[in-house]
Order: sequence, then structure tokens, then C-alpha cells
Amino acid sequence: MPRLRPDPSGAPLQLGESARCERCGATMVRARTNPIDRSLAFVIAAIAMFGLALFTPFLSISMSGQEVSAEIVTGSIELDLQGFWELGLLVAITTLFAPVIRLASSTYVLLALRLPRPPHHLAAVFRWNILLRPWSMIEVYLIAVFVAYAKLIDLAQIEIGIAMFAFAAVMVTMSAADMALEPDAVWAAIDRREHAHRTLPVDVNSAHLVGCECCGLVSEAADHDAHCPRCGAPLHHRKPDSLARTWALVIAAIILYIPANVYPVMTVVSLGNKMPATILGGVVELIQAGMWPLALLVFFASVTVPVLKLLGLIALLISTYRGRSHGLRDRSRLYRIIEVIGRWSMIDVFMISILVGVVRLGNIATIEPGLGAVSFAGVVIVTMIAAECFDPRLMWDAAGQNPHAAARTAHAEDPNTPTLALNGHAYD
Ligand SMILES: [Zn+2]
Ligand SMILES: [Zn+2]
Ligand SMILES: [Zn+2]
Repeated sequence: MPRLRPDPSGAPLQLGESARCERCGATMVRARTNPIDRSLAFVIAAIAMFGLALFTPFLSISMSGQEVSAEIVTGSIELDLQGFWELGLLVAITTLFAPVIRLASSTYVLLALRLPRPPHHLAAVFRWNILLRPWSMIEVYLIAVFVAYAKLIDLAQIEIGIAMFAFAAVMVTMSAADMALEPDAVWAAIDRREHAHRTLPVDVNSAHLVGCECCGLVSEAADHDAHCPRCGAPLHHRKPDSLARTWALVIAAIILYIPANVYPVMTVVSLGNKMPATILGGVVELIQAGMWPLALLVFFASVTVPVLKLLGLIALLISTYRGRSHGLRDRSRLYRIIEVIGRWSMIDVFMISILVGVVRLGNIATIEPGLGAVSFAGVVIVTMIAAECFDPRLMWDAAGQNPHAAARTAHAEDPNTPTLALNGHAYD
């Protein structure tokens, strides 16, 4: 997530330099060479590769004389046909829709920035591009392909299609585009085109300064339905009902985690035999096949990451509730890790979609998704949203490090009181 940028008028960074938050150590801005042109080149390359990946075979499998070939969309379609439309939709969103929308919106924004008078909705389009970033999971999908391949290689003959290489190229070019592009460079370019001179508001000590969670602009919010003057995102002093929402989602994820482990995530149907497999069963199977590194990878992604995420969020919630003032920097780091690592748990879900899409050999072998997979996907999504709902600034508020927080709590508690503004500014 983008960080707040408190001083846009400060000394410009030299190339390769980055600015870090004094307090929690998060990187706020990196200076890059020619970010807009370079990332545009990578984005266009990624689009070409994506086109190729969509219309060429992905994997083909042959077993006892039968051959089936699958495309990238086959997994989602098969999940849907087998009655697991929610899983199919999730896989389609994370591997097709989100990356395609991101590529299209990047191209649009980066090209339009070259116009002398770019359209006004550019900032809104770029905002969606940033919001979709964590939901585009091509790199996770490719790891899942690797695991699925390892599971099938002993049982059948597998051929890797052109789409696989094209998809790997999409991943590389999309990551390169994201690395080349500092969102701040786009916001600054949008500001320049709109002749908006965004500097810090006059009163830097005002309790009503709000940092935009999307573009990082710091502005003075007039009321509580305020929107960012630059990107249009809703402005909040703190994410609304942060602690309550995070708690609710954490509890929901813990509940979902039980069926995710108890019910099979998939069932292999071969020659009339049904062999259900749970998440842990899949890990054990990999160990028995001697594939230790993959077993560790799957165990890490499907067991360690979700459990650590939930425990980590609970620790953050409790320490914030108690107003602990120790280890704030470490807790901030823990939060950033939780935010980044969550999506990797999707490996198991993607692997199931690939196996379901590829192994369609009639009586010889088919793979059916199971209820465990839906619950597990639920755990991953719910914990990702939980991490988004948690506002790490509350940890610093609770520790008494933000003098304006107390003033704001006072006026937020009773928004209808006429003395509201007075309360809010009493501390200025
Ligand atoms: Zn910070
Ligand atoms: Zn306020
Ligand atoms: Zn904004």
C-alpha cells in the first residue's frame, strides 16, 4: 500500500534514493529513472504476452492413450461446471480479470499522461489500478502450476504449452512494470497536468490533517464525508471501525479455517475409486513421494502463513487494545509482513483449479474440488481483507504518540453535539 507523503515540497530525492518513515521505518517513496516511459514499455510487452497466453494451450496431459489439453481459463470453467462457481470466479478474478484491468488501466493512464490536457478521471482510473494490485496474483498462480506439475509428473505424461511460457513472461513484465513505476511519479504527473500545486496545508499542526490511504496526499478534511482532492478516495482520519471490523473478520477466518482442514480440498476419482485429500493430506502425499522442498512450500503457504497471519493480527489487536507502547516499530514491521504475505496462501486454491482443469480423463482419472477448498479460499480472502481493515496508526494512537488522536476521538463520539468543532480544535 502506498504510504503517506508528508512533504511534497521537500528536497527532491536523488535517483535510486528512497524516503523512509522516521517513525515506523516503512518505505514511502523511491526515486526511479524515467518511471512513466519505462513502465509503459513493460506494460505493453505484458499485454502482448497475455494475449498469447489466453489463446494457446497451457498444459496437456496424456494417460493410458487418452489426451486432454487445457487452457488458462479451463480451470475456472471446470470449477464452475462442477458447481463450485465461487471458486471459479475467484480464480478468474485473481488470474485474469484483475491483471487484465490493471494492464488496461496502466496503459490508459500512462498514455494519457502524454496528452497536453489529460482527462479528469485519470486519477480515479489510477486509483482502481492501485486498489487491484494485491488481487492480481499471477506469480502465485505460476508457483501453483509448478506444484500441480510435480504432483502429476509421476502419474501421467505432461506437456507444457506455449501459454505457460507466455504467462511466465506476463509475470516478469508486470513485476518489472510495477518496479519501474513509483505511483508517486504518476500522482505528481497528474498534479502537473492539472496545474494543481499541492503543498502542505498552512496549519501543519491542525488536528484535521488527513493522509489519503490511496495516493498519500495530506490535506485538511473539512467534514467526515470528505474525499481526497487528488484521487477521490474517501478520507478518514483512521480507517473506519478498524478494530471491530478486523476482529470480526479474524473470528470469521478462524471459524472458516476448521472446515478448510477437515473437509477434503479435492477428490481424485480414478477407475471408480474416490480418494479424498485434505490440505495436510496433500502435504503428506508430497513427502511420501520424496518431494520435500515442495511439501515444505505447500505447508508454508497453506498452514504456516494463514496461522501466523491470524495469530499476528490477534497480537496486533490485543496490543493496540491495551495501549502497549513497546515494540511499535516491530509491530509495524509485522503488519507490513502480514499485508504482503497473505496472497501466497492462494497456492493451494490455484493448484486445485489447475488439477481440476487438466485431469479430465473420463473413467481413467478426474479430479473434483471439495468443500475444504471453498472454506480455505474463504480464509485467505477474509484474512486479506482483515489486514486491510486494520489501521496500524491506531497502534501509535493507543500508545499516546499521536497528540491529535485524543482530540478526534472526543469529537467522533458524539457527532451531533454543536460543540463538535470546538472539541476538535481545543488541542491545537
Ligand atoms: Zn510510518
Ligand atoms: Zn475531524
Ligand atoms: Zn488520494
